[in-house]
Amino acid sequence: MHGLATAHSHAFQRALRGRTQRRATAAGSFWSWRGLMYDLAEKLDPDDVFQLSRWAFLELALGGTTAVGEFHYVHHQPDGTPYPNRLELAEAVIAAAHEVGIRLCLIRTAYVRGGYNQPLASAQIRFADTAVEDVLHDVDELQRRYSADPLITIGVAAHSIRAVPLAQVATLSGYAQESGLPFHMHLAEQRQELAECRAEYGRPPVALLADHGLLTPNLVAVHATHLEDEEVAALGAAGAMVCLCRTTERDLGDGLPRTADLLSAGVRLCVGVDSHAVSDTFEELRAVELDERSRTERRHAAAEAAELLRMGGEWGYAALGMGEAWAEDKIILNPHDPALVGLGEAWADEAAIFAASPALCKRCGWLTSGLWPKENTSNKRWRGRDTAVPSKSWDYEKKDRG
Ligand SMILES: [Zn+2]
Repeated sequence: MHGLATAHSHAFQRALRGRTQRRATAAGSFWSWRGLMYDLAEKLDPDDVFQLSRWAFLELALGGTTAVGEFHYVHHQPDGTPYPNRLELAEAVIAAAHEVGIRLCLIRTAYVRGGYNQPLASAQIRFADTAVEDVLHDVDELQRRYSADPLITIGVAAHSIRAVPLAQVATLSGYAQESGLPFHMHLAEQRQELAECRAEYGRPPVALLADHGLLTPNLVAVHATHLEDEEVAALGAAGAMVCLCRTTERDLGDGLPRTADLLSAGVRLCVGVDSHAVSDTFEELRAVELDERSRTERRHAAAEAAELLRMGGEWGYAALGMGEAWAEDKIILNPHDPALVGLGEAWADEAAIFAASPALCKRCGWLTSGLWPKENTSNKRWRGRDTAVPSKSWDYEKKDRG
C-alpha cells in the first residue's frame, strides 16, 4: 500500500492524551479544553517540543503514516520574546521528524491577536508576532535552510480568522501562492468562531474568504465543519482542499462535516491527526465515510476505500506540497493480522480502511523509501519505540479556564 499522510498535526498536544478526558468543568467545551491546552503550551521548552514531537511522529510512523503536516504555532519564549534563533521550536519539530524518518511539512503559522477586539491572553503571547513580515521572514529562512532536504517541505498558515485579521490573511495567502507553498487555515470549526466572524465582518469565514478571492487551489481549509451551501460550492469551484480531523473533532464536540457534499462539489479531502487524541490515520480516513453515514443515516454515503486511500495518499501529500512522493512511500501490511486473515488480497484495501488498527502495519514507507539504509531499519524502529517516550510527566492541576 502507498504511504499515508496526516496533513494537520499539533505534535506537542500528544502530552494531553487521556489527561483531558475527566470532567474538569461543569460544562465541558472546546474552549474549556483550550484552556488546558494553553496550560501545557505555556510550559514547553525546546527539548519538550522535540521529545513530544518525536514521540508523536514515531507513533504515527509505526502505524503506517509516512508524512505529517505540522501546523506549528508555538514559536516564542514563555514571555513572548523570540528565541535568539527565531526558528528554535520549528527546528525542534524538524529534528524530531528527522530522527523518526517521517516526511514533514513545517507549516509556519501566523497568530496576531486573541480575537475580534480581544488582546492576546496567556499562552497566546508565545504564538504571536507583531508584524506579518516577521512570519514571512521565518518562512523564507525555513525554505533557505531546508530546500535541499528530501524529508522536509515548508508551508504557510494563518491560525484562524479569529487570530488573524482578514487583511493579513490576504497577505499570507498571496505570499504562499506566489511562492508555490500550501496555505493552511483553521476554518469554521466551532459555532462561536462563526458568530464572532459574522459580528466582525458580517459573513461566515469561508464565505468571507470567497468574497475576497482567498479560496485558491493551494488553500487547505482545516475542519470546515459548519458550512453554508454557498461555501461548499465556493470551495469546490476554487479547487481548494479540506482537511478533516475526525478523531479530534469528535473529541472536542465540533460537529459533523458534510463530506459527501464537499466531494460532490469537487473539493479534494485529506485527513489530519490534529490533537493526537488518537493516532490512527486509518480511523481518520474511515471516519470520512462512517461519520457521514451517521449524519445522513445512509450507507455508501461519501467514499469507498479506493477514494479514501486517495485522500490518505495523493491528496494528503498534495496538501503538504509533497507532490508525487506518496507513490514512493510504501506500507507493508501484515497478512497475518486478524483484520486481514481469511480475506483475499482483493479485499485488503477495504479491510484495512474499514476495519484495521495501526497494528496492521508491519513496515512503513520510511523504512522502504530508500531514505534509510534497509539493514538498519528494523533496529531503528524498535529501539526508537523504547526510547522515545518522554521522561517528563505532563500531569497538571485541572482548573476551570473556561
Ligand atoms: Zn488544529
